Amino acid sequence: MKSANGCTVITNGTVIIGTGAAPIPHATVIVRDGKIEYVGSAEQGPLVDRAAATIDARGGTILPGLIEAHFHPTYFNIEALEDLDIKYPVEYVTLLAASNAKLALECGYTSARSGGSLFNIDVWLKQALESDLVPGPRLAASGREICSVGGLMDWNPDFRKIGMEGLVLLVNGPDDARAAVRKLVKDGVEWVKTYPTGDAASPDVNDHHTLCMTFEEMHAVVATAHNHGLKVTGHCRATQGIKNALRAGYDTIEHGTFIDDEALELILQRNVPVIPALYFEQASIERGPEFGLSQRVIDGHQETLEGGAESALRILRAGGRLGMGGDYGFGWNPHGQYARELSFFVKYVGFTPLETLTCATKTGAEILGRDHELGTLEAGKLADILIVEGDVLADISRLEDRQKFIAVMQGGVVKGGQLMQPQWSQG
Ligand SMILES: [Zn+2]
Repeated sequence: MKSANGCTVITNGTVIIGTGAAPIPHATVIVRDGKIEYVGSAEQGPLVDRAAATIDARGGTILPGLIEAHFHPTYFNIEALEDLDIKYPVEYVTLLAASNAKLALECGYTSARSGGSLFNIDVWLKQALESDLVPGPRLAASGREICSVGGLMDWNPDFRKIGMEGLVLLVNGPDDARAAVRKLVKDGVEWVKTYPTGDAASPDVNDHHTLCMTFEEMHAVVATAHNHGLKVTGHCRATQGIKNALRAGYDTIEHGTFIDDEALELILQRNVPVIPALYFEQASIERGPEFGLSQRVIDGHQETLEGGAESALRILRAGGRLGMGGDYGFGWNPHGQYARELSFFVKYVGFTPLETLTCATKTGAEILGRDHELGTLEAGKLADILIVEGDVLADISRLEDRQKFIAVMQGGVVKGGQLMQPQWSQG
C-alpha cells in the first residue's frame, strides 16, 4: 500500500493518541512521507516548511485510524446463515468483499483483522488492497473456518449433498484438524478461525453452551498453525470452550462470552486479547423478528449479550485486553455500521470513551501484530489517522456518522472524508 510523499500538517484539533493517555488539546500532527513525525502541542512543535500541505481539523478530534478486529469482508449482509454457502458463487462474493472493504475504510477503519473468510477471498483481497487495486483497511487475512462435523457451521443436512467447501473445513479428530490447517497454510492465510463452541443461533443442537470441537482437535490446530507461523482464534461462548482454547494456546478469543474466575485467570496469564463483538447480540435482539429469528434464538442472544457484557467489563477491569470487532455482515447487523460497537460499549457495557478507543486502536494493532507501526499516533508510525468534526470523547457516536469525517488517512494519503478528492483510475 503506497504512502504519501511530502509533508502534511494537521492543526487545530484535540489529539487522542490511542494509548489511553489524556487527550492533547490544540494539537498539531506532522506527517512526513506517510509517517508521523510529530504529535503534540502546536506551540512546542517544530517549524514546518511552507511547502507543507495543511489540514484544519476545525477544533475537532484527531485520532488513530480505527481497527476492526473481527471483520468479515466476505459476509454479504446475509439474512439466513445458509445464505453464506449457497447463495452466490465465489466470483460475486469476491466483488461484494471488495465493496465491503471500501466501505469499512470510508467508515474510518484503516486496518482490520478478518474473523473468517468465504473461499480463500481474504488472502487475495489483501493482495488487491496492498497493491492499491481497491481501497480498504490494511487486512490480516483469515481463510475458511474450521469446525467439527455436526458442529455449529455444519448446518446443511447430508441429504442436500452440499459440501460447504467454500465456507468451512469440517474435521473429525486431531488428524483432520491438522490436515485442515495444512490446507490453510497452503492457501496463505495469517489467522486460523475455529469453532470451539456453538451459538444462540443454533438452539437445537449447537447452542451457546455446547462444545463444537474437542480439546485434542483444538490443540492439533494450534500446534500445526504455530509451527507454520499462523495465529489461531475461535468462536468461544461456553465457559469450557473458552478454557479449552486458552489451554490449547489460542492467540485471541472471539466473544469470550461466559467466563468464570478460572477462565479470567487463564486470559490474564498469557494476556490473550478477547474480541467480544457485543452489538451483534443487541442487533439480533432488536431486529431479529424482522428477519424471522425465532423467540428461542432471540432469548439466547439476550443471555449471550448479558453474559458477554459482564465478561468484557471484568476482563477490562482486571487489566486484560479487548479488541473492538463487530462481526458485521448480517442482515440485521450490516456492513457500514461498525462504530455502533464502540457506542454500545460506552452506553451499555460501561466503558469510558477513551477506554473504548484504546481497544479500537492500540489493542487492535496488537492483535494484528503490527503495534510497532499502527494503532497509536506516535512519531515513527504510519500516518493512519481519522479526523472528525467535534469532540469524539464527549459523544463517541460521532464515529458512526461518516458525514462528520474531515479525513480518513492511510499512510498519509486521504482516502475518505470531506477532504477526499475524486479518484481516477490509473491506466
Ligand atoms: Zn464472526
